[in-house]
Amino acid sequence: MKTAVYPGTFDPVTNGHIDIIERALKLFDKLYVVVADNPQKAPTFTAKERVEMLQGALKQNNDRIEIQYFDGLLLNYVKSKKSNVIVRGLRAISDFEFEFSRALLNRELEKDIDTIFIMTKDDYAFLSSSIIKEIAMFGGSVKGFVPKIVEKKLKKTFKK
Ligand code: ADP
Repeated sequence: MKTAVYPGTFDPVTNGHIDIIERALKLFDKLYVVVADNPQKAPTFTAKERVEMLQGALKQNNDRIEIQYFDGLLLNYVKSKKSNVIVRGLRAISDFEFEFSRALLNRELEKDIDTIFIMTKDDYAFLSSSIIKEIAMFGGSVKGFVPKIVEKKLKKTFKK
């Protein structure tokens, strides 16, 4: 069985993330979606909320997706699942430098684990969790950019 791990902050999950997950499911039998904390970012939503939004958005694929919060070194999580592939999404050139160095560093630490990059649908190339929060914060519509459950959660979070 081919498995892979897709890590991210998912603060919150967007349709860009969902697109990467759907593409990854065409390549792998099982996908572990890992909600992690990025030390560079202070998340708006708690880990529990981020996991719940992912679960709500992905409920139709339940048997092939496992969603978990993990607080630790990602490579240890990948090994614990007996997987050897990390999936990351690529938007524009801006993602490349960071992803490139991270992928090489991970391979330096664990030579049998590889990172593969999936390019998003062009409609979502500009989408990021932070831009979504900015729109929602100022009362704009995020319809079509995020799953329904996230749209509702954002409305509740940012209503004055
Ligand atoms: P992180 O903080 O780890 O970068 P994110 O939740 O922001 O976590 O993103 C997780 C992964 O999904 C990253 O590989 C990121 O490049 C990718 N990603 C985020 N938004 C999109 C998008 N709109 N299209 C494709 N990939 C995306």
